[in-house]
Amino acid sequence: MKVGGPADSLLFPKDADELKKVIRFARRKKIPFLILGKGTNLVVRDKGVRGWVINLTQGMKKIKIDGEMIEAEAGLSLQQLVQFSIQKGLTGLEPFYGIPGTVGGGLAMNAGAWGAELKDVLLSVTLMKEDGEIVERSRSRLRFSYRGLVIPPSWIILKGRFQLKKGKKEKTLERVKSYSEMRKRKQPLDYPSAGSIFKNPKEGPAGKWIEEAGLKGFRIGQAMVSDRHANFIINLGKAKAEEVIRLMEFVEKKIYEEKGISLEREVKVVGE
Ligand SMILES: Cc1cc2nc3c(=O)[nH]c(=O)nc-3n(C[C@H](O)[C@H](O)[C@H](O)COP(=O)(O)OP(=O)(O)OC[C@H]3O[C@@H](n4cnc5c(N)ncnc54)[C@H](O)[C@@H]3O)c2cc1C
Repeated sequence: MKVGGPADSLLFPKDADELKKVIRFARRKKIPFLILGKGTNLVVRDKGVRGWVINLTQGMKKIKIDGEMIEAEAGLSLQQLVQFSIQKGLTGLEPFYGIPGTVGGGLAMNAGAWGAELKDVLLSVTLMKEDGEIVERSRSRLRFSYRGLVIPPSWIILKGRFQLKKGKKEKTLERVKSYSEMRKRKQPLDYPSAGSIFKNPKEGPAGKWIEEAGLKGFRIGQAMVSDRHANFIINLGKAKAEEVIRLMEFVEKKIYEEKGISLEREVKVVGE
């Protein structure tokens, strides 16, 4: 969203060994840490993040293929994973084209689009526990939900293994193109945002209720409910996190009062 203050320290471990040292040290010294993907689902508060922010996008982004299985490290972008799969003549990841995060963020959020979720093509996830031990969990042993994966708070996703299928490259590219066009048509991609702010409640798409409440274009300071997609809040330029958060709270209150629906946040608010 391009809002929020600085981190005390930002660390870029180059591999799992270095990451292990970092989190063991943090644990010993009682330093809190936050794992940051590309930050595309985050609203960082204005005073920033105390403790360490650990980012895997510099060193931990290897990718390899074995038949119809692709293994990708958490710091790789989801976009690169999808592109790699297409180049290799595999299908299954196209719906995720255009989701702007990392593989780790995608798994942590169980990212999804067009009726598909990342867990649908997942074989297993490799995780680092809080003491640095590395474990692999098959999909059946993991608890995914709508936009979430339940793991203990200080566990870190290191990589995912995805089971894909052989597919005709032209057809795969066609699907990617049409998803991409739908995104451009429906989403306000010219402004910083965090994607959908709220999860869709059981009563129907969050954007529909927000639009019906007449909130498209409603703004607090430089934060505005997008007039293209009502479930997006965009930063018009110099928004403060505080404005984005007040706008989120305003929308929640209004939808509850007018429709009796409690919206649940998809974005994560972090920092102080
Ligand atoms: C324009 C736009 C469109 C979007 N469209 C979609 C969409 O169609 N579908 C969808 O699902 N989302 C969408 N999003 C939201 C977002 O891109 C996804 O949630 C994405 O998966 C987040 O990835 P990230 O790397 O940016 O994670 P971040 O935002 O950095 O982090 C998200 C959460 O994951 C945790 N996390 C990240 N990496 C790890 C790791 N390695 N181990 C443990 N925890 C980790 C973080 O601590 C945080 O809690 C959109 C966002 C934007 C801005």
